[in-house]
Amino acid sequence: MNIILFGSPGSGKGTQAKMLGEHFYLRKISLGDILREEVKKDNEIGRQVKKYMEQGVLVPDELVSHIIEDNIDVKSSDNHLGHRGIILDGFPRNLSQARVLEGILNKGGQTVDTFIYLDIDEKTIIDRLSKRRVCKQCGANYHLDTMPPRCQNVCDTCDGELIQRNDDKPSVIKKRREVFLEESKKLLDFYAQKDKLLAIDGRGTKEEVFDRIKNELQPKITYEK
Ligand code: AMP
Repeated sequence: MNIILFGSPGSGKGTQAKMLGEHFYLRKISLGDILREEVKKDNEIGRQVKKYMEQGVLVPDELVSHIIEDNIDVKSSDNHLGHRGIILDGFPRNLSQARVLEGILNKGGQTVDTFIYLDIDEKTIIDRLSKRRVCKQCGANYHLDTMPPRCQNVCDTCDGELIQRNDDKPSVIKKRREVFLEESKKLLDFYAQKDKLLAIDGRGTKEEVFDRIKNELQPKITYEK
């Protein structure tokens, strides 16, 4: 079972990918998280990646393609640790990346099963992103109103410091949203033509959204957990 979670920045992809991964035994691969790790390394690739992320634009395909190929590794990864497939958060984000992904999966005799589109209005997105805080240490996400940490600015899980992502600042949010709108239609059409598109209402609490997705996916799952 190989699933893609797609949606605007702030649509809740990361949160849902984690919940679905745990529920359906899928290995979560978040390209945004992987790229942030590259940036932390402060090497040649990391410095190039940082430049694009700070502007809110996509990192060029040449840079991300080999990163995703290294991380997917379909054959070896999915059986140990009991995983039954992968759930991709933040990849593909455009048509050429969708084709790269097909190539990688096909090599392992696999394919994308479902492309989930989290559909959500602009106002909710801006509210979510501007009030999002992330743990500097473990990457856990919070929302100042709906999912606040127990102590202000401190992660509940690891006591790390909570910060605002640089690309969650208003001017960068606007750019990321524009990039998303430009690329999304082509990608949605691509998966709709293959009859793999599953559009989900992304409004409401994370549990409500999770239940909507779970109810749609459950009948397609053929393996025992
Ligand atoms: P995210 O954490 O998914 O919101 O991604 C944060 C940033 O990482 C994006 O604004 C892009 O700069 C970069 N990024 C994430 N996924 C991709 C991708 N598939 N292709 C290119 N750049 C990406």
